Amino acid sequence: MADYDYDLFTIGAGSGGVRASRMAASHGAKVAVAEEYRVGGTCVIRGCVPKKLFVYASHVHEEIEDAAGFGWTVEGARFDWKTLIANKDQEIDRLNGIYIRNLAGSGVEIIEDRAIIKDKHTIHLVNQNRDVTAKYILIATGATPNVHEVPGHEHAITSNEAFHLEELPKRIVVAGGGYISVEFAGIFNGLGVETTLLYRGEEILRGFDDDLRTTLHTEMEKKGVRIITGKVFDRIDKSGDELHATLSDGSVLETDAIMFAIGRNPNSQGLGLETVGVEVLPNGAIAVDAYSKTSIDNIYAVGDVTNRANLTPVAIREGAAFAETVFNNNPVAVDHSIIPTAVFSSPEIGTVGISEAEARKAFGRVDIYKSTFRAMKHTLSGRDEKTMMKIIVHPQTDRVLGVHMIGPASGEIIQAVGIAVQMGATKAQFDATVAVHPTAAEELVTMKTPEPQPDAIAAD
Ligand code: NDP
Repeated sequence: MADYDYDLFTIGAGSGGVRASRMAASHGAKVAVAEEYRVGGTCVIRGCVPKKLFVYASHVHEEIEDAAGFGWTVEGARFDWKTLIANKDQEIDRLNGIYIRNLAGSGVEIIEDRAIIKDKHTIHLVNQNRDVTAKYILIATGATPNVHEVPGHEHAITSNEAFHLEELPKRIVVAGGGYISVEFAGIFNGLGVETTLLYRGEEILRGFDDDLRTTLHTEMEKKGVRIITGKVFDRIDKSGDELHATLSDGSVLETDAIMFAIGRNPNSQGLGLETVGVEVLPNGAIAVDAYSKTSIDNIYAVGDVTNRANLTPVAIREGAAFAETVFNNNPVAVDHSIIPTAVFSSPEIGTVGISEAEARKAFGRVDIYKSTFRAMKHTLSGRDEKTMMKIIVHPQTDRVLGVHMIGPASGEIIQAVGIAVQMGATKAQFDATVAVHPTAAEELVTMKTPEPQPDAIAAD
C-alpha cells in the first residue's frame, strides 16, 4: 500500500480510537493515531476512571458512620481533597503511560497534534504544519461537555474542571439530571459539600425505569442532597467569592460553585468534515451505518462522536468491529440493543434491557417482579437506605426483558445478570438458579409473585 503514508489514520486516542488502532495494527495495517490532549481519552483521563476513584472517596464517609454499629470507634477522621487529587493524578498518569506503551507496543505511531481532514485521503497536522495521507481515516474524537449559555455561565465549571479543583467548595449546585449530574452530586455530598441538584424536568434520570428514578431521588435526598426539579438557571452572578444563581422562577441560590452536567456534544466541529462531505446530523453527531462507515466510503467514525450509545465499552466494541470489518475482511456490526450499564450514583444503579414503561408500550401487559428491602449490612449500621430490584418479564414467552436495580454493588451484579438477559433467559431460568446466600443479589432468583397489573389495581 505504498500509495499512502498509512493504511489507517485515527483521529483521537480515546477508548474507541485506541482499540481500533491496535486491532488494525494487529491485522498488519500501518497505523498512526493523532491526539491533541492526552492518550486515553475522556474515560481514562477525565471521565469514568477518575470519577470512580472519587466515588470510592465519597463512600468512606458513610463507611465511617456505619462502623459504629459494628463496634468500631473511628476517631479523628478527616478528609483532604488535595491528597485525593494528587493520588488520582498519579493513577491517571500511570494509566496514560500504559495506553501509550500499549499503542507503541502494537506498532501504532502516536502523533501529538490536532488533525484536520483535508480531503478523503489527506490529513493536515496543525501544529506540525504538514500533511499525511491514509487509505482509511477513523474519527474517534469523542464529545465535550455542553454548557447552558445563560448570562454568567463562564463562572460555572463542567466535569472537566471538577477533576482539578484547587479547593473543595463548601457549597455546589450541579445542573442536569443525567448520569454525570447524579454521580457528581453523590460525590460532592459524600465529601461533605452542601450539594444541590438542579434539573429542568419532573424527575431525574429520564429514560431509566421509573422505580429507579424515584428511588434514587428519595435516597439522594435522605443522604442530604437537595434536589430542585422543573427549573433552570436564568443567570449566574459573581459576588466576591460567592455565586448567585437566579433560577427560572426568580428564586436565587447562593453557592460557591456551579457545575453543568447537561449532556455532551459530539466533537465533530473543526475537523474538516464539511470539506470532504462527511454527513453530520443536526445534533452534531457523525452519521454512520451499522459498520461505522460515514457517508464517505473510506472514512469511519466510532464512539461518542457518533452519539449512538455514549459509553466506553460500546466505543471499544465499535472500534474493534471497525478493525475487524476493514482490516480482517470480516464484517462485524455492533448490537446496540441490549447494553448493561451502571450509574455510580449513591446508591448505585445497575440496569439492563427495557424499562417497565417501554415494556408496557411495546407489549401491553407485562409481568413485574419487584423487591424493596433494607440491605443486611444496615440492620447493624442502622442506616435508613433501601435497595430495590425489579425484573420485567414478557407474559407469553417468559423472557426477561429488563432488570433494574439500585443499591450497593448494583454495577457489579448487573454485569453478570446482563449475560443472562443477553442470552434471552426466561424468568423460569432465573428461578431455577440456586440463590447465593446471604447476598442482596439472591433476590433476583427468589422473587416469586408478580406485582398486580395496573388495570387490576384500577379495578380494586
Ligand atoms: P445525559 O444525557 O445523561 O443527561 C443530560 C441531562 O442534562 C439530562 O438530565 C437533560 O435533561 C439535561 N439537559 C440537557 N440540556 C439541558 C439544558 N440546556 N438545560 C438544562 N438541562 C439540560 O448527559 P450527561 O452529561 O450526564 O452524560 C453524558 C453521557 O456520558 C451520558 O449520556 C452517558 O452516556 C455517559 N456517561 C456514562 C456514565 C456511566 O456509564 N456511568 C457516567 C457518566 C457519563 P432532559 O432529561 O430533560 O433531557
